[in-house]
Amino acid sequence: MTTKNEQLSLIWKKVQDRLSSAIQDQTVYNSFISSSSLLSLDDSKAVIVTDSEVSKKILSQDYQDVITNAICKVTESQYTIEIISKANLKQYKSGQEDKSGSSKTDKEFFKNCALQPEYTFENFVVGKSNAQAFQSAVYITNHQGSFNPLFIYSKSGLGKTHLLHAIGNAVKNSNPSLRVLYITSDDFIDEFVKFVQGDSDKESLKDYFRTIDFLLIDDIQFLVRKPATGTMFFNIFNMLVSQRKQIVITSDRSPNELDGLEDRLVSRFSQGLSVSIDKPEKKTLIEILKIKIKSNGLDPDLFDEDALEYIADNNSSNIRVLEGALNRILFFNVSAGNTEKITLEIVKQAFAGDSSSSSKKGDKVTPEIVIDQVSKYYSLTPSQILSKVRTLQIALARAIAMYLCRSVLGMSFANIGNAFNGKDHTTVLAAYKKVDNLLKTDPRMKKAVQELTKQLKA
Ligand code: ADP
Ligand code: MG
Repeated sequence: MTTKNEQLSLIWKKVQDRLSSAIQDQTVYNSFISSSSLLSLDDSKAVIVTDSEVSKKILSQDYQDVITNAICKVTESQYTIEIISKANLKQYKSGQEDKSGSSKTDKEFFKNCALQPEYTFENFVVGKSNAQAFQSAVYITNHQGSFNPLFIYSKSGLGKTHLLHAIGNAVKNSNPSLRVLYITSDDFIDEFVKFVQGDSDKESLKDYFRTIDFLLIDDIQFLVRKPATGTMFFNIFNMLVSQRKQIVITSDRSPNELDGLEDRLVSRFSQGLSVSIDKPEKKTLIEILKIKIKSNGLDPDLFDEDALEYIADNNSSNIRVLEGALNRILFFNVSAGNTEKITLEIVKQAFAGDSSSSSKKGDKVTPEIVIDQVSKYYSLTPSQILSKVRTLQIALARAIAMYLCRSVLGMSFANIGNAFNGKDHTTVLAAYKKVDNLLKTDPRMKKAVQELTKQLKA
């Protein structure tokens, strides 16, 4: 791991290299630049420390522009510079602390992480495949710290995230004063990276976790091969366990299969209770379908029983895909103007010409499959995504499909353009950038892209 100081000196070394060729006069370079250092790079400001007042004066008067230029080139970002001398370092630092004041302890972490109220124990269908996971989840809700951690693992789309939120919602319902934090391991990594870059400090991050009663951490497999973050997580994990706080972890594989995660973390995970969720049996799938139909504001009796069976039979390995299929049928039904019962015939029609039904799983992912998955996710049709229609939702779905063609399939912008009815590569690039930016600010976008990526890689 490189510390913040190591990163700064690395950057400064590169800046010095540039300056040594930019500044003709070697004496200036040797006397003033080689003895200076980079103190910080924050808020678009670079602070440089010189070894004497004289150096400071000379660099500020005559070399400010050259240095600014070199820093911007090396970091590929815009910075203004401030030059201070070693003698004033202490004074400068205390001034900075005054400015930040008490904000450090008030700092808000994981601002975008919230419990999703729609995922509850009540609307989780229990069957043989998930009974153990469900019962353990309910149990720890009322017996904080009894199994630590509760580790739930399964393939994608089988209800892990649903159960995590359900635990959080149930805890909050029965005891609103308890503090629950739901995060994905990606969120944890993001926050950790901010700390490494100096935006948040280690102790305050640890202090923050100290206040949490239930830590629900989703998709721990993303911590694999991230040793520095893993170490931080290990410390936080131990601290919480020693205070009998409850930790619940989900993963796409069992603790022992988390290759690339530190052994000590794996062995901590194995000390708690590990439960898996399997592929649901048909009865459970049909129950889930009915619950999802109700949550769409419809009566499950609208569907003929054999129509429901058909949907379940053809989408049995991933409930997210099952929901996508249902959305597609509902959409098809509305656009076909049908107000009668939804029959097997209608369901079959809705899937006619479907090039990537789950029976095709395992085939090589193509742009068509990406477009198909994205359209299902947003209850659109592939032709809407490929059309020129620019309503907000369709344009966004199209941009996400383009983004995934790049991020999952590694296609060039020009080839993506071709796959989308001959769009220009600059259009694709703009869409890619838009999604990339939204990923940083919009948690729903992050969730959509994560889930779609998972589906495509499954
Ligand atoms: P995972 O986190 O395992 O990938 P999710 O929890 O995101 O899966 O589940 C995907 C979708 O399937 C969610 O909309 C969830 O509500 C639904 N789902 C999964 N299992 C069940 C269940 N047993 N009962 C009701 N809905 C379920
Ligand atoms: Mg999940």
